[in-house]
Amino acid sequence: MVSASASKAAVSTDVEEAVERFISLCRERGLSVTPQRLALYRALVSTSSHPTPERLFEDVRSQMPTLSLATVYKAIETFKEMGVIREIRVPDDHRMRLDGDVSEHHHLICVRCHQVVDLREGLADEPLLPEQAMQGFRILGYSLQFNGVCPGCDATG
Ligand SMILES: [Zn+2]
Ligand SMILES: [Zn+2]
Repeated sequence: MVSASASKAAVSTDVEEAVERFISLCRERGLSVTPQRLALYRALVSTSSHPTPERLFEDVRSQMPTLSLATVYKAIETFKEMGVIREIRVPDDHRMRLDGDVSEHHHLICVRCHQVVDLREGLADEPLLPEQAMQGFRILGYSLQFNGVCPGCDATG
């Protein structure tokens, strides 16, 4: 591991830590840690591309040829219930997009090519909502989605 770059090593440590947390959360909830769930979760925390379920399926199937799309959809529902992934919706796109990063961050979304980019900076202040606007909700977190046109799509008109 001498030749591995520092940033790459840091990323894989984060992935391993997330996978460890995922395994203990499964055990706490009495869910079995199947090789399918593990491979799918690992793939989601390893990417920042916010894949569709179909894309995730294609990626993981290369290592796990017996995987079915139905298993992928079931695992996604389980992951969402566990709160270990979140779902993003792109305007005018019926497919869900998946995010294995549940830390607080926002998204820039291109309405043409549908790429989803993480946004972590630039919002100086927490949005303030008046008490009555909360309608009795206890707020646990929030996420903003900025819909626009990415530089690549903008250049091609
Ligand atoms: Zn674009
Ligand atoms: Zn994200």
